[in-house]
Amino acid sequence: MFQWFFGWLRNDSFAQCRRWCFALLGLTLPALGAPANLPVDEIADGVFVIPAPLADATPENGGRVVNSGFLVGRDGVIVIDSGANHRHGEAILATVARVTPKPVKMLINTHSHPQNVLGNSAFAERGIPILATAATAVAMAERCPNCLASLRQSVGDEAMRATRIQLPDTTVAASQVLDASGRQLRLLQFGHGHTEGDLAVFDEGSATLFAGDLIYSGQIPHLSEANTSGWIAGLDQLAGLPIRILIPGRGPVGSAGDIAPIRRYLSELKQRVSVAYQEGRSADEAIRLAELQEFSGWHGYAARHGRNVQHVYFEIERLDLDGRREGRQ
Ligand SMILES: [Zn+2]
Repeated sequence: MFQWFFGWLRNDSFAQCRRWCFALLGLTLPALGAPANLPVDEIADGVFVIPAPLADATPENGGRVVNSGFLVGRDGVIVIDSGANHRHGEAILATVARVTPKPVKMLINTHSHPQNVLGNSAFAERGIPILATAATAVAMAERCPNCLASLRQSVGDEAMRATRIQLPDTTVAASQVLDASGRQLRLLQFGHGHTEGDLAVFDEGSATLFAGDLIYSGQIPHLSEANTSGWIAGLDQLAGLPIRILIPGRGPVGSAGDIAPIRRYLSELKQRVSVAYQEGRSADEAIRLAELQEFSGWHGYAARHGRNVQHVYFEIERLDLDGRREGRQ
């Protein structure tokens, strides 16, 4: 009897049952007046993802367009990314509470973009420490006031009610291993990539990578704060990890195989724009010359690819002008 019970605990049907239980809770709690419930999926033992749709921020989704997640350890929980506003942060905390009675011990912000950090205030209200890279803390202090205003324009006042900027209170300046309630978490920094201070989190026990926005899966990435060369170099380092499960910042849960497509997008974009620049073409001409058909089916291609071409064009131009200036000195 005991053998059967422990076998069932380990097997797939138990995992299915847990998923159904969480889904049913999600359907029943709103009727009881609980906070809006988010979907949640246990993708490895004690590792949960709160998936977001492949979408841009709108009043309908309230800015919930990036994946969050959490890891349940021996005596507490680590949450990764707090959502787009105070209410979203509250909903993430309510989702954790549906799954486990253990307290949330720490929030990790993967980077400074508003959809990842503007739920921080819900965590700070409960005295939960917030960890990020030092560069992310600086970028948040500089940009979050504008980001908050622009996200409010996209999703409306109601979704952003009670949202305030809450900076991280703990910063890390280099990669390190964190013992988080018995889970060994590798906090990985590769310098300026998608943003100035990206942090990826690798749970060694389950070989799960929370990649933040270093990985977009099926969606054209945002490059507005990016260093494209640094981003590609960071992806090459991620590819060296023994990843079993990969949670991208945007898109469905996948595997290490999801690193190659985003790397190819960035490197082909860079290569095409570089050729256009060398030929003396303008940034507007480069947009036409750097169409990437392979990625035209990704969400956001029409809206964002042209802007990405321009971003890379100006990166190349800046490097070129800096090189010439140094050559004259
Ligand atoms: Zn981002």
